[in-house]
Amino acid sequence: MPLIVERLTKIYPDGTRALHEVSFTVEDGEFVAIIGLSGAGKSTLLRCINRLIEPTSGRVIWNGIDITAASPRELRKIRRQIGMIFQQFNLVKRATVLTNVLAGRLGYVNPWLSLLGYFPPSEVQRAMRALERVGLADLADKRADELSGGQQQRVGIARALMQEPRLLLADEPVASLDPVLAHSILRYIEELNRKDGVTVLCSLHFLDLVHRYATRVIGLKDGIKVFDGRPDEIDDRR
Ligand code: ADP
Ligand code: ADP
Repeated sequence: MPLIVERLTKIYPDGTRALHEVSFTVEDGEFVAIIGLSGAGKSTLLRCINRLIEPTSGRVIWNGIDITAASPRELRKIRRQIGMIFQQFNLVKRATVLTNVLAGRLGYVNPWLSLLGYFPPSEVQRAMRALERVGLADLADKRADELSGGQQQRVGIARALMQEPRLLLADEPVASLDPVLAHSILRYIEELNRKDGVTVLCSLHFLDLVHRYATRVIGLKDGIKVFDGRPDEIDDRR
C-alpha cells in the first residue's frame, strides 16, 4: 500500500512556512532520498509523516489509513509500524544498548517508557537478534553513551528493526558520521529496503550517497517540492 502525501503544509507558530503543499506518492519498496539545503524542510517533512510534528494542512495516507486524521490511540499503533532514525541518534544515553533496542517495541517516540516497561524473554531475544544483525550483540550491556557515533547509529537501526517496520523515516541518519561510517550505515538501511522490503524515506546531504543508494529523489527548496525523479536525472538540472 502506497504512502500518499497530499498538499502537505507546515507553518510553525512563529510564521515560518517550512512546507508548502508538498505532494507525492511512494510505492512499497522504494528508497526515496529527500534532498535540499539546510532549512529546505526535509526534517519537517519526515516528521509530519508520522506526526511527530503536526502538519498545518494536507493529508498523509499510509496503508489506506489517514494518519493526519488518526486518533491518539490509532496514531500510537501506526507509529509502531514506522521506524525512525535520527541524525543525533536519539538514544537514551544512560540506558543500556539492549534497553534502547527494546524501546523500539513501544515505538521510538518515548524511549524512556522502556525503562519502566517489562519485556518478556522472547522480546529480549528479538532485540538480541536485531543487535546481532548490526554487529553489536557484544555491546548489549554497555551504556549507550559509551559507544562511538557509528555504533550509536547502528543501535538506532536495531531499534527500528525491532519494530519490524513497513516504512522507515531516516532524518539525516549519516550527517554526523564520517564517509566510511556513512556507507556502513546506509548499507544496513539498503539491506532493510532490499531484503525486508521496507519502504525508505531518507534525507541525505551528499549526492554521491543519493546516487549510490536511492531509487528516487525528491528535492525540496524553501518548503516546496522542486524535483521528483530518478537519481540519474538530477545532474542534468544543475
Ligand atoms: P531541513 O531539515 O531541510 O534542514 P527543517 O525542516 O529543519 O529543514 O526546517 C525548515 C524550516 O523550518 C527552516 O526555516 C527552519 O528554520 C524552520 N523550523 C524548523 N523547526 C522549526 C520550529 N520548531 N519553529 C520554527 N521554525 C522551524
Ligand atoms: P535539523 O537540521 O537536523 O532539523 P536543526 O538544528 O535545524 O536540526 O534543528 C534542531 C531543532 O531545533 C529541531 O527540533 C527543530 O525543530 C528546531 N528548530 C529549527 N529551526 C528552528 C527555528 N527557527 N525556531 C525554532 N526551532 C527551530
